[in-house]
Amino acid sequence: MRVSQFFLSTLKEAPSEAELISHRLMLRAGFIKRLGSGLYTWMPLGLRVLRKVEHVVREEMNRAGAIELLMPAVQPAELWQETGRWDVFGPQMLKIKDRHQRDFCFGPTHEEVITDIARREIRSYRQLPLNFYQIQTKFRDEIRPRFGVMRAREFMMKDAYSFHADFASLEQTYQAMYEAYTRIFTRLGLKFRAVAADTGAIGGSGSHEFHVLADSGEDAIAYNPDSDYAANVELAEAVAPAAPRPAALQALSKIPTPGKHSIEEIADFLKISPTQTVKTLIVEGTEGPLALLLRGDHQLNEVKAARLIGQDIRFASEAQVRAVAGCSAGSIGPVGLSIPVIADRAVAAMADFVCGANEDGFHLSGANFGRDLPEPTVADIRNVVAGDPSPDGKGALDICRGIEVGHIFQLRTTYSAAMGCSYLDESGKAQTMEMGCYGIGVSRIVGAAIEQNFDARGMTLPETMAPFLLAIVPVGYQKSEVVRETADNLYRELLQAGIDVLMDDRNERPGVMFADMELIGIPHRVVIGERGLKDGLIEYQGRRDEAARTIPVAETGVFLT
Ligand code: ATP
Ligand code: MG
Ligand code: MG
Ligand code: MG
Repeated sequence: MRVSQFFLSTLKEAPSEAELISHRLMLRAGFIKRLGSGLYTWMPLGLRVLRKVEHVVREEMNRAGAIELLMPAVQPAELWQETGRWDVFGPQMLKIKDRHQRDFCFGPTHEEVITDIARREIRSYRQLPLNFYQIQTKFRDEIRPRFGVMRAREFMMKDAYSFHADFASLEQTYQAMYEAYTRIFTRLGLKFRAVAADTGAIGGSGSHEFHVLADSGEDAIAYNPDSDYAANVELAEAVAPAAPRPAALQALSKIPTPGKHSIEEIADFLKISPTQTVKTLIVEGTEGPLALLLRGDHQLNEVKAARLIGQDIRFASEAQVRAVAGCSAGSIGPVGLSIPVIADRAVAAMADFVCGANEDGFHLSGANFGRDLPEPTVADIRNVVAGDPSPDGKGALDICRGIEVGHIFQLRTTYSAAMGCSYLDESGKAQTMEMGCYGIGVSRIVGAAIEQNFDARGMTLPETMAPFLLAIVPVGYQKSEVVRETADNLYRELLQAGIDVLMDDRNERPGVMFADMELIGIPHRVVIGERGLKDGLIEYQGRRDEAARTIPVAETGVFLT
């Protein structure tokens, strides 16, 4: 590509609203342009990066046996009513009406649509297992869109859904997806970690998140530096957006006092929370302590708990509970209830109850709260869990920050049962399919990668993601015939060798061209100038190299390819 035939629109300064380095650099490099809150245009340069991420994702999904399709972004309400999620998904779902006043949504996810396909298309056990995926636009009306494409409202997701005759088959595909994700993030040059995520009513090892490690991440990960143990604290989701102060105060005043409370009272308290600020509730389950994680994006229920707060409930393993609630192993006698109520960035409280539960109600036996906590910092979370014994018994936990770029989940039969998605087994009997789902934030990855790859001059993207692999910067392209000829020849030679090369033929001052090529993160740069050519030399510098080195012109092609 020649710059003269392309579209570069770099900026000296980033717009002031951009907080994160990745967001600032993406705006400065002209990767994206903001249209509205959480809405971005991918400009030609940024789109090349997005497509490269897609390419790696697609290759690895195909290699792992997944089959690509493409579902509509707009989905009829009826499908969501079948699973009950039309009413419980919450305000993240953008609901729209067509000209006949029929209800639709702009899909935040596609479990219902794919399950509808599966129940119509799959008849026999002989067709199973199947794993379908798409790379497609999602819309979630995020309460606080921020960080550019990292938490956008419209964004690009790779979502896959697998269908199985039995659980063993689901576990196999789940493992294959785990490995595919590991390959994807490794190929993209990311420093990442797979962490256990809360597993809903299913339990076991049924969900993992993949986090790019970065201090700017919205998630806090509890991990054991001495073993493989890692779990997502999901503290970021407990942070409510700025709410009017009186509402926050009112919420705080309703925190129940220690003592015995009816289920109704607790339920009432949970409902007054102005947004979904209540995160973790640990109750004495039949098999020991259980955590109820309250959140809006999955509807799963378990009998007793469901009575409390409808379907916005998930269960976590005891280990995850401890990580979230900050209970060390010994302190789960009477179990703990940890409720971060952060209803206002100015007024915040962390309530930490000790409670037990049985048929007739919850017994709160202690509470302390009132800490000012505008937003949980790593240090705050440290207070809660760092140093606690690791649930695997090997040493102590530590905390780091992560950006969730992938999430795999064993759905089991939640959707297939609700939607009557079954197959005929060997004896001709109808059986409900087991399902898994596997998401990757394709557009978020671009931002997350930049968080890990930048320096004072701009992005230092890995080769697999950079908009171009190599830049040719001719000094005096218009003036000097020998420069132009050498540059043109090299350009052609590299194109023929299949190298993604950008030739800066703008005739700009060298400083301007260097600055642009560095800002947009091109991994390799060749400078061709009259002075060097007199000695038969050109200059090469890798984006992460300290200094340039000279190479004989004659060897350039070989050196670069
Ligand atoms: P988060 O916890 O960050 O809100 P999520 O758990 O709601 O993400 P999933 O439903 O697991 O997201 O979706 C799969 C992937 O889609 C996520 O792992 C993430 O990488 C990406 N993703 C989710 N929400 C957004 C968003 N608002 N903008 C960009 N990418 C997103
Ligand atoms: Mg979310
Ligand atoms: Mg999440
Ligand atoms: Mg997730």
